[in-house]
Amino acid sequence: MSESYDITVVGGGIMGCATALRLAEGNMRVLVLEKSDLCQGASGVNAGTLSLQIKRVRLMEYALRGHRIWASMGDAVGFRKTGGFTLAFNDREAQLLKERQTLKRQAGAPIEFVTPKKLLQREPEISSKVTIASYCAEDGYANSSLTGQYYRACLKAAGIPYRERAPVSAIAHGSDGFVLTTSLGQVRAKRILLAAGAWLGPLAAMLGVNLPVRARVNTVSVTEPTPPVIGSVIGHATGLLTMKQKPNGTVLIGGGWQGYGTPDAGRGCVSGKTMVPNIALARYAVPALAKARLTRSWTGFEANVPDFYPLAGDLPGVYGAYVLGCVRGGFTIGPYIGKLMGDHILGQEPELPLFDPDRSFEGVPG
Ligand SMILES: Cc1cc2nc3c(=O)[nH]c(=O)nc-3n(C[C@H](O)[C@H](O)[C@H](O)COP(=O)(O)OP(=O)(O)OC[C@H]3O[C@@H](n4cnc5c(N)ncnc54)[C@H](O)[C@@H]3O)c2cc1C
Repeated sequence: MSESYDITVVGGGIMGCATALRLAEGNMRVLVLEKSDLCQGASGVNAGTLSLQIKRVRLMEYALRGHRIWASMGDAVGFRKTGGFTLAFNDREAQLLKERQTLKRQAGAPIEFVTPKKLLQREPEISSKVTIASYCAEDGYANSSLTGQYYRACLKAAGIPYRERAPVSAIAHGSDGFVLTTSLGQVRAKRILLAAGAWLGPLAAMLGVNLPVRARVNTVSVTEPTPPVIGSVIGHATGLLTMKQKPNGTVLIGGGWQGYGTPDAGRGCVSGKTMVPNIALARYAVPALAKARLTRSWTGFEANVPDFYPLAGDLPGVYGAYVLGCVRGGFTIGPYIGKLMGDHILGQEPELPLFDPDRSFEGVPG
């Protein structure tokens, strides 16, 4: 393989694929290079929650637009708009819920507060210990394990070449662009987008740039198929629970509980110390789940930087290089921020601001 492109996207997750599609719409010749298969990193193993209630206030506009794109993808990604409830079980949690959701409502999320009575009318299997809940009719989920086949089909339809099992091991930068070394040979490109999720640090280092990217090791678990217990996405005031029941009866349980491991070492490992309390919280919220057996738990790496906002813009100090990643709630926001990133690379003004990777992280608590 010795080829030449206007731009090469390194990383075939949701960020890389969504940006590539926008760039091709703008008539750029794009190549996507992926070290494993498309969307087998965070984009293919996440909990699939599309919930405005767990988005950060400053990212709300991006999440609202991301929701609309997911809705348009429909059945191909297992999209379901179910509405979502976030639960509080005591005064402290109720206070937290009110504070957080009021700010999110002010930022544009259609969130209302509901009494336990109203909650139980919609979700009779939820614990009667709930003191107050918030509800957002826009919330729902998609099936992350369908993301890869969805984007593969989109890239093919757009005529965008992609290479799977083609890890980039070196990048050289000269006056006429970039030369990338992969296991399939070398690729030349005038520009380059780094969209390698939790692996962004080592890739940027190939161009002499230090990005303060870290990885969280999020855990997700799934039960065997059970009779219907919940119809909406269920969360908890602390953010430590997300739960939805799929059409096949399985219940997917997450909430950002941490496993262990590092991106370089593989997919990470589930920790019993965190998985057990995650499941206990799910069972506390929906007591009928006590009868369901868990069939599998797994982890994935979610990238972040110290301020927990995205890296989306020019790679500092390297002309023609860009970076997109570290987006909190990136499954929800990915299809939209990828379009914005594409617009920026095409020289067009994005409709919402990007997040300068060259900003200072000094003094930001890690
Ligand atoms: C377990 C878990 C649960 C989550 N739950 C949710 C949720 O419910 N809702 C939500 O909105 N968000 C959720 N997220 C966050 C969301 O999944 C991520 O923000 C998003 O998928 C990140 O997309 P990405 O394209 O930046 O990264 P990734 O999907 O990780 O893609 C990066 C790609 O780069 C490739 N790559 C790395 N190095 C190289 C190299 N040298 N050469 C070529 N390719 C390379 C990787 O193989 C990978 O495919 C969750 C994350 C995790 C891990």
